[in-house]
Amino acid sequence: MEQLTCYDCGETYPFGDVTRCRCGEPLWFETDAAAFDWPDASDGSLGRDALWRYESVLPATTPTGLAAAAGGTPLFRAPSIESTDGPRVHLKVEGVNPTGSFKDRGTAVGISRVDGPVGTVSHGNMALSVAAHAAAADREAVILVAEDTPDSRLAMIAQHDPHLFRVHGEYGRLYHDTLEHDLGAAFLNSDAPLRVAGQKTVAYEICEAFAPDAPDAIVLPVSSGGQASGVWKALRELDAAGLLTATPRIYLAQTARCDPIAQAYRRGASRVEPVTGEPTAAVSINNADPPSGNRALAAVAETDGGVVSVPEEAMLAETDRLAADAGVSVEPSCAVATAAVRDLAAAGEFGPGDDVAVILTGSGYKYGETEPDTSSVREIDRSDVPGAVRDAVS
Ligand SMILES: *Cc1c(COP(=O)(O)O)cnc(C)c1O
Ligand SMILES: [Zn+2]
Repeated sequence: MEQLTCYDCGETYPFGDVTRCRCGEPLWFETDAAAFDWPDASDGSLGRDALWRYESVLPATTPTGLAAAAGGTPLFRAPSIESTDGPRVHLKVEGVNPTGSFKDRGTAVGISRVDGPVGTVSHGNMALSVAAHAAAADREAVILVAEDTPDSRLAMIAQHDPHLFRVHGEYGRLYHDTLEHDLGAAFLNSDAPLRVAGQKTVAYEICEAFAPDAPDAIVLPVSSGGQASGVWKALRELDAAGLLTATPRIYLAQTARCDPIAQAYRRGASRVEPVTGEPTAAVSINNADPPSGNRALAAVAETDGGVVSVPEEAMLAETDRLAADAGVSVEPSCAVATAAVRDLAAAGEFGPGDDVAVILTGSGYKYGETEPDTSSVREIDRSDVPGAVRDAVS
């Protein structure tokens, strides 16, 4: 599994040489899944195993320590939030991953594959995940956060002792900066091929739980498009392995305050244009220029799904409803997905006979009241990032 391919133009590259296709689109690992079959589950191991249950289709081998524990999250039907004429709703609770979000899947595979220092451009769950997994694996971590990242979030990341930089300047460009410069650290950004490989395992787990049938649809929040890509990749592989009776449709949900993928979907376009987002409580999904946006749109088009924008008020109300009625505390960024299920049911996309799996991407229990200690955070300008990062990791 050493080849990367472009979903769009089909170009292939050896792993390690390039970060994106020369056509501009993101790459993913080529996986020959034709011989894949579900592992034996008669011993109850599905639901107990971590994501390494699917090691044969991953570009890394089972590690020890924290990375060994990512994935294997609960999936349960939640009748308390179903409506009488709506579909059966199954919740995949990614908040129980080691650092509270699905990002641990991608981090676990990434850190198990690369050597030396690791890094990421993130001010949220991905930063926390990379910092924690690096700590567990005794690696240095470089975390580049945006100027406006609140101290409470910084303190949460800082407790794992990474090199933590608050970057002043155009944060949106940093994703590309870290791919274009050799910074002495392997950057596991939102849609890095290793990360997408790890993240596809969430859909493996969902589909295995329904085997030999399959859910009618998988609904998830989308920002960079990394997780949506992983879900699509999983469905393609499971199709190739002959394990899906019908391919689940992929539906994506965005906040109406930052919805470039939904806007492109409504235009009927195959390319996402950057937008100017507005402030939103959906802090984990406010990417105005998503690097895997086109691939996310392709996932929707190929599986006959859709993209939904959820207004801020509806999202916040849905966050409360999930906690109060389903007993699951999530970030507002996740609640767009169950809000979307209701919109889609009302629009006739789902009926009472349908099984819809919703990925609740991150825990709501994280953002507490602790006194933030941010004394280890260094303030730097974007132009100083390459030098400062190199100095920090050397
Ligand atoms: C990162 C994140 C997302 C968005 O995932 P992408 O791969 O960037 O599309 C959604 N929800 C939560 C909680 C996240 O942390
Ligand atoms: Zn290409």
